[in-house]
Amino acid sequence: MNTDQIQSLKQELSTPKKIVIVPHKNPDGDAVGSVIALYGYLIQSGHKVNMISPNDFPTFLKWMEHSDLFLNYEQEEKKADLLIKEADFIFNMDHNAFHRAGHMERILGEVHATYVMIDHHQQPDDFATYTYSDTTMSSTCEMVYHFLEMLSDTDKITPAMATAMYTGILTDTGSFKYRSTTSTTLRVAANLVDKGANSEAINRKIYDVNTPSRMKLLGVALNNMVILEKYRTAFITLTQKELDANNFKKGDTEGFVNYALGLDGVVFAQILIEKESESIIKTSLRSKGDFDVNKLARDNWEGGGHKNAAGGKSDLSMIDTVKKLISILPHYEKELHEVVI
Ligand code: 5GP
Ligand code: MN
Repeated sequence: MNTDQIQSLKQELSTPKKIVIVPHKNPDGDAVGSVIALYGYLIQSGHKVNMISPNDFPTFLKWMEHSDLFLNYEQEEKKADLLIKEADFIFNMDHNAFHRAGHMERILGEVHATYVMIDHHQQPDDFATYTYSDTTMSSTCEMVYHFLEMLSDTDKITPAMATAMYTGILTDTGSFKYRSTTSTTLRVAANLVDKGANSEAINRKIYDVNTPSRMKLLGVALNNMVILEKYRTAFITLTQKELDANNFKKGDTEGFVNYALGLDGVVFAQILIEKESESIIKTSLRSKGDFDVNKLARDNWEGGGHKNAAGGKSDLSMIDTVKKLISILPHYEKELHEVVI
């Protein structure tokens, strides 16, 4: 977004508007955090703001202030459709294509609100009047901070907004570990602490959420892990039966794939999780160095994301999906061996 666009957006937002903010489907910490932070900002100027999520999000994100105000599109489609049809502005947060909003895709494509996209994923679609897209950013939450800087409104950051933004930066950087964590990211995080984000409390609420059944499920996942040294790859499977046997709750498998990536010598990890209700296998892909899982996910798994973290799906059975995963690897053998870590 250039200076002219910022000025124009600021001008448009100087009078009360009807605004809808949308995260991507299966919202993560960055998606929920960026929506809540923006909500906290916009309500200060008297706008009528609604947060609409394509579906539910995990309990470990529900402690954030205002997280109870989200409409869940899966449960309140009619009400949500009305709000979307009436909206002057729709903010698309942490996604850059309507299909990432699940069943909301259709209504988003139909209405003629002014769209604002704030996102750090690769290859953005061109639907927004105001597009703030930067794939070098650690997180959409970091971008919300920079967005407020551009609007000269960082003084409007409340402790609740700071907490939401810090949460998204923390989760999308793997606790400030990933390469996307720049000195600026750390400065933004420090500023957010100054604005009231409590790092210790946020870490506790996000990460100290283990239940005995989640730990057992992790045991199953680790037991199922397959290491393919030839391809510097490790993958994990979890069938619906295994999930059911361990009292699976949304969010329980978050981070499991990182155990596979954490193996010494492994540069590519993938987890396959059966989702019987949708007749799909949901998959998460992670990599180290220059191995591009965004491309791998786009080319093979109907998905995408970032260079080192992407997602996708398979319509095949678990066994056939595993076969597919293994059959894909020889095509990437050279790239996998070239990764320097
Ligand atoms: P996760 O594996 O944690 O679900 O997602 C990792 C990253 O990939 C996130 O940034 C997420 O937004 C993105 N992602 C996950 N699933 C998909 C998908 O099906 N399509 C696209 N384009 N991106 C995805
Ligand atoms: Mn993100």
